[in-house]
Amino acid sequence: MQYRKVPKNGDELSVLGFGCMRLPQKNGRINEEEATKQIRYAIDLGINYFDTAVPYHMGASEPFLGRALSDGYREKVKIATKLPHWSVKKREDMDKILSSQLDKLQTDHIDYYLVHSLAGESWESMKKLGVAEFLNSAKKEKRIINAGFSFHGNIEAFKKIIDEYPWDFCQIQYNFLDEKNQAGTEGLLYAAGKDIAVIIMEPLRGGNLAGEIPDEISKVWNEAEVKRTPAEWSLRWILNKPEVTVVLSGMNEISQIDENVKTAKEAYPDSMTENELLLVEKVKERYEKIMKVGCTGCRYCMPCPFGVDIPECFSNYNNYYMFGKKPMEKFHYIIRLGGILGDQGYAGLCRNCGKCKKACPQNLDIPVLLKDVSKTFEGRTFGFKLALFKALASLQGRISARKGKNAPEKENTENFENHG
Ligand code: SF4
Ligand code: SF4
Repeated sequence: MQYRKVPKNGDELSVLGFGCMRLPQKNGRINEEEATKQIRYAIDLGINYFDTAVPYHMGASEPFLGRALSDGYREKVKIATKLPHWSVKKREDMDKILSSQLDKLQTDHIDYYLVHSLAGESWESMKKLGVAEFLNSAKKEKRIINAGFSFHGNIEAFKKIIDEYPWDFCQIQYNFLDEKNQAGTEGLLYAAGKDIAVIIMEPLRGGNLAGEIPDEISKVWNEAEVKRTPAEWSLRWILNKPEVTVVLSGMNEISQIDENVKTAKEAYPDSMTENELLLVEKVKERYEKIMKVGCTGCRYCMPCPFGVDIPECFSNYNNYYMFGKKPMEKFHYIIRLGGILGDQGYAGLCRNCGKCKKACPQNLDIPVLLKDVSKTFEGRTFGFKLALFKALASLQGRISARKGKNAPEKENTENFENHG
């Protein structure tokens, strides 16, 4: 296994981290026996970073991980989990949620604690609720060791969050299609330039860059001199960047663990040849060609005076068509753009003022395209779905906060988010 150093504390983290959001399942629940076997197998192969969160597996991921790490495995790894900001209504909720997580994970400290899924507005509201003071005191009491945040907003919001707290690490969505999306390459370099460790999530865009990929993309990968799977190419491309500390993968088969560990052993920073990098670029261009909207994510059209997150709308729309119209993309759209986790920015907010159109270097007819996005993802039941998801988020928050320290363990069944 290859390990990379966390600049602020010298921890040596395995470059491959285990994301506990897509564990093997049986009858709709975590297959405890198989998942435990896989977790321990991964640890024996040298993986030492395990990432979970309250909503993963409808609340069951954290308590499962606590059990899986018994028998001496806890001491061999670093646990990362997250504060669900949407569940926090007042300062005391933060301590209650953390206490409940420590209980569920059967540990007295969280090694890497993140504020979950921040964007511009959620950061502002968490600041007002006192999150900086909470993180400082939890660190002082050694209930958490390192403070970080996971992120799904735009680059401006990312830099602001980075600058406003002395973070030890952060977690961003990053892969060869997302160089200019969300924090992107600019965010990766910005954080690393401030000695903040960067954990990568969605290296395969939720699995879409691997598995069943379009034939025309396979043809390009097959042009490579050394044959590799699309998953291996994608991971190698990320690990080629020296600024990356850990790449998370939501693994649920022994064969996936073996393949990813093999990649992690070989993929050193700056190890890809010029030809290999050109091949990835060619695959990226081919993906962009089959996208519905030729948006490059440059953000010249932003901000929209009515709050539409134009590039994020197009990114969801493109994913939907590029990866076979999977219902999961509609779910992501509500979660990301409906204001459940990040800031509200869905296409239906457009008032057709035309401001963005003048700024787009790709000459996209943005307001017209947004109407298509709205038609695809919103429809007549959108308002109802938003209200439903918000109610579920609030219910989950109340349950998490009520559990508190030493509360009896009981898995909750609400789930509205499942990302890594
Ligand atoms: S046309 Fe629509 S998306 Fe563009 S700036 Fe105006 S309101 Fe925003
Ligand atoms: S300016 Fe055009 S290409 Fe750039 S992010 Fe906006 S819509 Fe996309």
